[in-house]
Amino acid sequence: MELVFATNNTNKLREVQSLIPNHITLLSLKDIGCLEDIPETQSTIEGNAIQKANYIKNHYGYDCFADDTGLEVDALNGEPGVFSARYAGLQRDANDNMEKLLHNLKPHNDRSAQFKTVIALHLNGELKTFTGICKGQITETKQGEKGFGYDPIFKAEGYEHTFAEISLVDKNKIGHRGKAIRKLVDALESLR
Ligand code: IMP
Repeated sequence: MELVFATNNTNKLREVQSLIPNHITLLSLKDIGCLEDIPETQSTIEGNAIQKANYIKNHYGYDCFADDTGLEVDALNGEPGVFSARYAGLQRDANDNMEKLLHNLKPHNDRSAQFKTVIALHLNGELKTFTGICKGQITETKQGEKGFGYDPIFKAEGYEHTFAEISLVDKNKIGHRGKAIRKLVDALESLR
């Protein structure tokens, strides 16, 4: 079965490919000739995931899934949330985003946060969503070189190390995207 994953982010493609069953061939946006920016103008993570999946279905006709992720920090009323990628500006620089978050969190004692991923799946005329949440803490400083985005400043609950210090295999086991993907995979398996 061919299914479009509405992303060109190679980190995400690699993460998802390692979790998805072998009978499913993932196609990227590049593979289907979608080179334009897909609009992400909704005010919720779920809304953005659905908007992206709808766009591919409506413009290209493929069954597909799209994900949207945000880091929600309790003391900042859920910020950066849907603005996670461009928190420090449209240059979408991970380092700038982390610096801004660490700065804004300085006056607060509560450093609890969660990553939330929503996947919207268009399959056989139906639209379904799957949510994965990983709760944890924002560290005081950046630690580790692995991963991407906010990984160097996020420690999952019960973990001594940040997401940027643990292996991709471990991150997938406990991480938000891994949880959402496993729900997606269960739904795909049940169709076999
Ligand atoms: P997206 O919706 O997956 O593109 O994620 C939006 C933004 O959230 C990214 O640009 C990153 O800043 C952040 N993000 C998403 N997933 C992760 C992750 O697994 N680790 C760290 N940051 C992430």
